[in-house]
Amino acid sequence: MNDPTASFQATSAVSARAAQLASIPSFQRVDAYITQADVRRQGQADICDFTFGNPHQMPPDRYVDTLRDALTPRNDQWFAYKTNGAGAREAAAESLQRLLDVPFRAEDIYLTTGGFAAIALALKTVADPGDEVVYSLPPWFLYEPLILEAGLVPVKVKANMATFDLDLDAIGAAITERTRVVIVNSPNNPTGRIYSAELLLRLAELLEAASARIGRRIYLVSDEAYNRIVFDGLRFHSPVEFYAHTLLAYSYGKTHLSPGQRVGYLALPPTLPDRAAMRPAITGLQVAMGWVYPNALLQHALPELEQFSINVGQLQRRRDRLVDALGGMGYRLQPPEGTFYLYVTSPVPDDEAFTESLARRDVFVFPGVLFETPGFFRISLTANEDMIERSLPAFQAAIKESSA
Ligand code: PMP
Repeated sequence: MNDPTASFQATSAVSARAAQLASIPSFQRVDAYITQADVRRQGQADICDFTFGNPHQMPPDRYVDTLRDALTPRNDQWFAYKTNGAGAREAAAESLQRLLDVPFRAEDIYLTTGGFAAIALALKTVADPGDEVVYSLPPWFLYEPLILEAGLVPVKVKANMATFDLDLDAIGAAITERTRVVIVNSPNNPTGRIYSAELLLRLAELLEAASARIGRRIYLVSDEAYNRIVFDGLRFHSPVEFYAHTLLAYSYGKTHLSPGQRVGYLALPPTLPDRAAMRPAITGLQVAMGWVYPNALLQHALPELEQFSINVGQLQRRRDRLVDALGGMGYRLQPPEGTFYLYVTSPVPDDEAFTESLARRDVFVFPGVLFETPGFFRISLTANEDMIERSLPAFQAAIKESSA
């Protein structure tokens, strides 16, 4: 048996795991950028904040009314401990079935405090410490801490940066006997790419063959936080349609642009052969991970929350405005097919220097280094129209300066 206290140092107040997490470079950088934006924000209501996918306008009345209604108790158990509430599970399963045309069952929906916990739960359900988790760069920058916190080993492969598609050869080459999970994020943060059915089918074939080769099942964790944030009437395809050994993580924080209200789920598709064994394991983990169930209020609200979303058309118009305006100025970019983000090629290789030149003009974006792909920067489309219009002269001046 490993001695759990072996790495404890009497001189340090901080556990080895916590110290490891705190030292992740992209994690530290995000923290530094938050601080920077916060400092400059003080006393300056007019900055253009394109950093996080946060709301910059008042929430829709329907969202507020839904929460207000859910707050009114109907019985004396209204605010009692809640686990995987039946009504919420049922509503989520039906909605997922409508979206993906896959007959999800209510008992296979595990309600969580957002996408973060759903991903952590998926990882801990199938992987043991030391197992490897493969994912593509540029990634959502918080996969790494979730993987490390679970005692797992991140294995990063670069996406095809010309198309923003998965590089299947690179994924295949990264698989070892320790590989247990491949994380796939479509629609993708930060690239906005939606992977095609054909690509997902080829990925499924690759994982099937690789699992047979290593003699151990590789699971796919599908991070679908943005599966309702899709533009141009495109059809989103989930990996669950192609690979039975997929666990699906979802967050309502994107659909309602309300990330401070923590609710999401982990869903197991009806095709997943090991569901029966996973059920008690997952519910055990939900408790042991610190009761990662959504608050009672959000569980009561969930059936109604399933009936609507933010105005995706408005988000698409903001995308169009920025894509046209920045393209016209000479920025190189691929219009995102979904999500909140636009991933733009930095006019100069040093993306941090370029984002700094925008910051000097009170326009805040995230540099590609945060997503482990220098040479790009990310713009969040959740900024309001006023910010977008005010930012355009700054984008123009910054690209002009870079070529001077
Ligand atoms: N996955 C991706 C790709 C994300 O962008 C985010 C949030 N930025 C999450 C998961 C987590 O979502 P939540 O904060 O709603 O838990």
